[in-house]
Amino acid sequence: MENNKTEGQLLYEKLGYKNTNAWEKTSDKEIELAFSFCEGYKKFLDMAKTEREFVNHAVKLAASHGFTDLDKFTKTGQKLKPGMKVFQVDRNKAVIFAVIGNKAMKEGTRVTGAHIDSPRIDFKQKPVYEDTDMVLMKTHYYGGIKKYQWVTIPLALHGVVIKEDRTLVEVNIGEDDNDPIFTITDLLPHLATEQMQKKATEVVAGEALNLLFGSIPYKDEKVKDKVKLNILKLLNDKYGINEEDFTTAELEIVPAFKARDVGLDKSMVGAYGQDDRSCAYAGLKAIMDTEKTDYTYICVLTDKEEIGSMGNTGAQSRFMENFIATLCAYTDDNYTELKFRSCLANSKMLSADVNAGVDPNYEGVQDKKNASFMGNGIVLQKYTGSRGKSGGSDANPEFIAEVRKIFNENKVIWQVGELGKVDLGGGGTIAQYVANLGMDVLDCGVSVLSMHAPFEVTSKIDIYHMYKAYKAFAK
Ligand code: MN
Ligand code: MN
Repeated sequence: MENNKTEGQLLYEKLGYKNTNAWEKTSDKEIELAFSFCEGYKKFLDMAKTEREFVNHAVKLAASHGFTDLDKFTKTGQKLKPGMKVFQVDRNKAVIFAVIGNKAMKEGTRVTGAHIDSPRIDFKQKPVYEDTDMVLMKTHYYGGIKKYQWVTIPLALHGVVIKEDRTLVEVNIGEDDNDPIFTITDLLPHLATEQMQKKATEVVAGEALNLLFGSIPYKDEKVKDKVKLNILKLLNDKYGINEEDFTTAELEIVPAFKARDVGLDKSMVGAYGQDDRSCAYAGLKAIMDTEKTDYTYICVLTDKEEIGSMGNTGAQSRFMENFIATLCAYTDDNYTELKFRSCLANSKMLSADVNAGVDPNYEGVQDKKNASFMGNGIVLQKYTGSRGKSGGSDANPEFIAEVRKIFNENKVIWQVGELGKVDLGGGGTIAQYVANLGMDVLDCGVSVLSMHAPFEVTSKIDIYHMYKAYKAFAK
């Protein structure tokens, strides 16, 4: 075949650059690995629909892979040695894992970082009310959602209630097949003439996202809110909580459906929360499967990205900095602040977050010459931000070249991607906050369709190449 190509065609092949369809360029044996990797991925998504659940399951997985709580070292003063594996949890909502490398910490680390919070609907602090013989729960949505996507779907309730004596009560209703589920109702089309004239942002009002919770009254003529009382009694029977306990709770409403294969060829995963648990899972698995490294390898999983990475569990907090400082101090008898600062400046990170894949139904929003495509491998996104890259991170090409070389050498299929047409919108990730510490940071994750919807879609081959990418980066 080669012989039939003209000189120009050959030259074009040599000099030109185009995307690769990862399915075509991945061996059948590796495609099998991709499918089995995604079986584990789907199970994990079903178990870990909130940041707290992700932390719990990630720590369990880590324990079975020889990871120890860093607190054990800080309490005993025991030093860390190359090959040791540690983790630290921040308020049950963020977690960092590390495999100590052979090189001194001041030489820098290799980091993958993803966020484990996803857009959802939270309970308000005084959620319970009765209206028209039904009980509903008041909510306040979390992150960028299209509110109209969250009505008339099965919803589950996950979270914690902290009682006055600080006992933690874990709530999980709607995942077991025998559990009830919840829903938010919508207007019937017959009476929606007015509603249908509204802008999509207003079709469903934030204050109308009230969760349908029950309808059987407590049998007592003297009681005013009988259905409410009955619900409070059921909650008290099951969890030992009262209405005031909601003021100290974190209850999250998430889609009740499970992760499923999408497409007749089962090539895609459809599930809630793949932004950013697809990257978080790949990062987690990569560090679980890492034994010895030159540079200390770190996987950081943060909370609150969907609302700006604020707070003490978000990427803007000191959690990662403190963790790295501790690693520096516990691997070096002569720890100095300067060595810690050198460590940060010499560190390199893949900010593991998703990119918007080209959707054939809505390709007008993308510059198809620079957008990412489903099934074309992991996406390298040089810059984020919106309207002139504002509020984003812009990776240095020196670092991108380094990553490109690692990926090419390890047969990781990758593409580049930009989030939408220049003036259309945009978004940010945790990259900028880590870059501020002096690290080299590049956004690097998978393409997603229907991002932030209750049911997001990714490509299995991309998920697999992302895992390969994070593993190669550790070496
Ligand atoms: Mn994200
Ligand atoms: Mn997001």
